Amino acid sequence: MDMIVRNARLRGAEGLWDIEVEAGKIAALAESQTDGRKRPKAEAANEIDAGGNLVSPPFVDPHVHLDAVFLDGRNTYNRSGTLLEGIKNWGTEKLTLTEEEIYQNALRAVRWYVANGTLKIRTHVDTTLESLINVRALTKLRDDVKDTVDIQIVAFPQDGIFTAEPFAELMERSLKMGCDVVGGIPHNELTREDGVKDVEYAFELAEKYGCLVDIHCDETGDAQSRFVETMARETIRRGMQGRVTASHTTAMHNYDNDYAFKLIGILARADMQMVTNPFDNSVLQNRNDGYPRRRGHTRADELLARGVNVCIGHDSIMDPWYPMGKASMLAAANLFMHYGHFSGHDQIPVLFDMITGNSARALRAQDSYGIGVGKPADFVVLDAKDEYDAIRLESECLFVVRGGRVVSRAEPAVRRVTLAGRESAVTFKSGVNGR
Ligand SMILES: [Zn+2]
Repeated sequence: MDMIVRNARLRGAEGLWDIEVEAGKIAALAESQTDGRKRPKAEAANEIDAGGNLVSPPFVDPHVHLDAVFLDGRNTYNRSGTLLEGIKNWGTEKLTLTEEEIYQNALRAVRWYVANGTLKIRTHVDTTLESLINVRALTKLRDDVKDTVDIQIVAFPQDGIFTAEPFAELMERSLKMGCDVVGGIPHNELTREDGVKDVEYAFELAEKYGCLVDIHCDETGDAQSRFVETMARETIRRGMQGRVTASHTTAMHNYDNDYAFKLIGILARADMQMVTNPFDNSVLQNRNDGYPRRRGHTRADELLARGVNVCIGHDSIMDPWYPMGKASMLAAANLFMHYGHFSGHDQIPVLFDMITGNSARALRAQDSYGIGVGKPADFVVLDAKDEYDAIRLESECLFVVRGGRVVSRAEPAVRRVTLAGRESAVTFKSGVNGR
């Protein structure tokens, strides 16, 4: 054996387990011998004692913009906190960025992701610059880190496809340069008709180049923004079920309930993958509401209840749209628990699915993902007993393992508190299953 992780708690399994790794894959799962039974123990060059902590498949971020990370404050801050000022600031910053600066910023963010246990990332890349240096920087980064992190790149027309002459062609050039996924932004086109064309063009390119689709769709409070239905129609018409992601769809929050009911049935038929982005959409949407102020979010609970796959994205790290973020999918899940009304005892494990397996499915990576014999030895040893503690504490990743190699390790803070004359250690941890 190359590696054994002992005393691991696994989701959905009783007791503790040893994970045996050979040649980069999980070779065996055996119950840990914590009860003194005498069975021959496998031995390995590299042994990790998980100490009863949760060992999870790595986190997956299905939605981020790696070409914009760390730009808030580069020249200007987003002082109003609005989407419009974010777009304006990005529009000026991107004109002075160099390929090297984009690359280094993105590399720094990927390093943060690895430290926080995320080993699969889907990033959008702005394709509206004639130089396409953003595409060059991120495709190079994807290739440079591929031994540790899987990155998918979405050709994303930030300023629209039909708002100016070269954008449609730049999208296609980006795909030829190696983008993996076709994007779109129908609600940013000048007219509703152009929005429909935006979606149709993305699907045409996806068919032509054999790509997946992931469109920024209906990211507005406008209840008349209904481009996700066009996405579903194109998906069904072209037989692309399961290969298409609708990101954001915040307008769905404001749809009439009867329309939303009909729509969700169609999304289920299209096997549409939905990504919700709690950090950005909790602060950017419905700014014109005054009070009461609606939540700017898609209908995650209703979608899941009717069998539509929903994932959580991180979207931003200190960029022109959002000033916070540390590449932590657990932090995103924690926020969405509040914002999406997911605090029920049985809903919290669903949040964990939304940053792991659900997102792996959206990336079409489900077959090589998970803790199981024969799967790649990719996993995270969390400083938490279960998903309740992991999300509550936004736990550290004690070990992050990729293909049987430790790619990150952490030593969580030690706190010693003296109270009533006695010193004791404080970890904030609870027992198993939220008790
Ligand atoms: Zn986005």
